Amino acid sequence: MNSDSPPAGPVCAPRRPTRQITAGKVTIGGGAPVRVQSMTTTKTGDFEATHQQIKELATAGCELVRVTVNDDEAARTLPALVAFSNVPLVADVHYDHKMALAALEAGVAKLRINPGNIGSRDHVREVARAAADKGVPIRIGVNRGSLHRRYEEQAKTDPAGALVQSALDELEVLAAVGFHDVAVSLKSSDPGEVVQACRRFAALSDVPQHLGVTEAGTLLAGTTRSVAAMSVLLAEGIGDTIRISLADDPVHEVTAAFHMLQALGLREGYARVVACPTCGRVEVDVVALAAKVEALAKDLPGDRVISVMGCIVNGPGEAKAADLGIAAGRSKVAIYRKGELHRTIEKSELETVLVEEIERLR
Ligand code: SF4
Repeated sequence: MNSDSPPAGPVCAPRRPTRQITAGKVTIGGGAPVRVQSMTTTKTGDFEATHQQIKELATAGCELVRVTVNDDEAARTLPALVAFSNVPLVADVHYDHKMALAALEAGVAKLRINPGNIGSRDHVREVARAAADKGVPIRIGVNRGSLHRRYEEQAKTDPAGALVQSALDELEVLAAVGFHDVAVSLKSSDPGEVVQACRRFAALSDVPQHLGVTEAGTLLAGTTRSVAAMSVLLAEGIGDTIRISLADDPVHEVTAAFHMLQALGLREGYARVVACPTCGRVEVDVVALAAKVEALAKDLPGDRVISVMGCIVNGPGEAKAADLGIAAGRSKVAIYRKGELHRTIEKSELETVLVEEIERLR
């Protein structure tokens, strides 16, 4: 390191201090870890399908699961979903404040309402009073695509400012009835607008922020666009909960969110698979192998690192930093444990040996 190099340190600035709220057993903001959220894609009124998806999300590590409450059937099913869920459920309500009241009755841990479409401010006040009675926090979820018409003009020239103003106005409505148990989200499908809005809001308020790029897109594009916006904000200490919104299986949202948080040094306890991109030297099917290893390793305890390398050029080097390393040679495969060459096996044995070696990491 030359004398001009900055000192090594954490990638992210210290977390911005926010007031803490609690959704069921999960603390949000105020020094709590950045929480990972997702949302079910099933009809909430279909108990079996929704319960199953909540279980899958919880198994993947999701800490808060949002379900839409959009009709009587959903409202009727909600009490059973709450009763059988081992993660706090967040009710997502649009248009009809009576659905929010029903969700509170059902015992949800948090409400998300969209000020752009929930109706009059009297409705917002009524929901806030009911939430206060139950000790349930509310997220004011402002979306660029459904801003209240009072912000439309501002949004034409200053979309981030319109998002911030909408959130601040809504918080004021809640504060006027003594309700402060709140979080906000300022979402847009444009990652740049999300960054600007969240930064501006963070400079003005200690309310915890839920981050997300809304309608981010399909698995690859949506993950990339979400991570682009969120990693900037998280590195600045902004963000208390996150959701990567994908047009795909929501379990991928959770996996991607934890990979991002781990890469930024904000969460621990998630296995990481190092895999080479392959090239003309490759001696095994690294793409298939890495996918298999990732599936086998996903519930390993601690921050395990497993490297899957297609040849011996970088294989031993990567294996040195890994708990388990694989480097393929022309006819044999070298297996490393904690940086030391452990054994050399035939290629045909690789899959069986991998399962055994990953099991040993438990
Ligand atoms: S480890 Fe080998 S196969 Fe993989 S990219 Fe590097 S040189 Fe190519």
